[in-house]
Amino acid sequence: MNQVTLADFHLTMQVMDNIDAGVVIIDKEYNVWAWNTFMQAYSGITTEQIMGKNLFDVVDDLPVDWLKNKIASTFKLRMRSFSCWEDRPSIFNFSNFSPVTAGSALMFQNMTLTPLKSLNGELSHICLTITDVSDIAKNKTHLRESNEQLTHLSMTDRLTQLYNRGHWEACLAEEFERCRKANIPSTLVMLDIDHFKKVNDTFGHVAGDGVIRKVSSLLRRTKRHSDIAGRYGGEEFGVILPGTSADLGLYFTERLRHRIEDASVAVDVRSINVTISIGVCEWAPWMPSYEKWLELSDSALYESKQNGRNQTTVYSRELCQEQDKELKAVSC
Ligand code: GH3
Ligand code: MG
Ligand code: MG
Repeated sequence: MNQVTLADFHLTMQVMDNIDAGVVIIDKEYNVWAWNTFMQAYSGITTEQIMGKNLFDVVDDLPVDWLKNKIASTFKLRMRSFSCWEDRPSIFNFSNFSPVTAGSALMFQNMTLTPLKSLNGELSHICLTITDVSDIAKNKTHLRESNEQLTHLSMTDRLTQLYNRGHWEACLAEEFERCRKANIPSTLVMLDIDHFKKVNDTFGHVAGDGVIRKVSSLLRRTKRHSDIAGRYGGEEFGVILPGTSADLGLYFTERLRHRIEDASVAVDVRSINVTISIGVCEWAPWMPSYEKWLELSDSALYESKQNGRNQTTVYSRELCQEQDKELKAVSC
């Protein structure tokens, strides 16, 4: 090596050892030709321990098959290739000290594989460059979690943790369209706590909230996973039963009604018992909109209230005609 080449090499080595990234050079047999300070510091393996040795023999926990494939394709395609932390969080099993968590955590890594030519112009080596992207990964994960939380909050009712009215109605509109396209049965259930004003007046609003929570939790435990429950208003709830006829829906409503009737909410030394009234309406092809479906379920609920509460009414066209007559009589 002449004087200029040696100086050149000396400068290059200083850059290699001070760069904030891991630099590893290997040949086609995976023998290590360069292993910089970054790699020594994080792996605990010194240059002396690894130079000229097979990378996979010295470094534990490497994704051997995956990395060999990546190296082979870089040689074959004769161009740079990359690995992103989002596809594979890390390649070398390094920990880094995080000032945020005040502890060590897995180092998230991006890796670049650059094919290198030897003096005779042949592709003979590959340089692996490892960058620590833990901060980016943590920020992105935090942002994703925050967004998921916001999405959850925007569709959830705070008191009951059921869907709120806006999201539940959007689900109902979707279910209505699904029924229209596939012509499959689906049943809508509306329910309302009986004489709830009296609960608030007698036991106070906080106890009233406890009753709403209890009814919601019984509703959640009684419905199937695929049924969609939401808080429609103060103490009124809606449940969509996809793929269920009104007859089968009755099994659900009666089980729920009895569970609520039998349950009680403790307030100081007293306990509160409530009942619910229910309206059930199965989707039918002649229904013009989901709003109409909702209106018909509500009219069945109204019928349950009129007939003495703590009961279920299934909507039928005759029922609607009767209600129409009643309304006409009232307005005359
Ligand atoms: P009905 O059997 O006819 O349904 O009688 P009701 O007394 O339940 O009548 P209504 O449905 O009109 O009354 C609902 C009451 O629920 C009125 C309102 O003050 C109360 N309410 C609405 N939202 C809440 C809430 O979040 N918490 C509490 N504690 N009360 C609420
Ligand atoms: Mg009520
Ligand atoms: Mg009500």
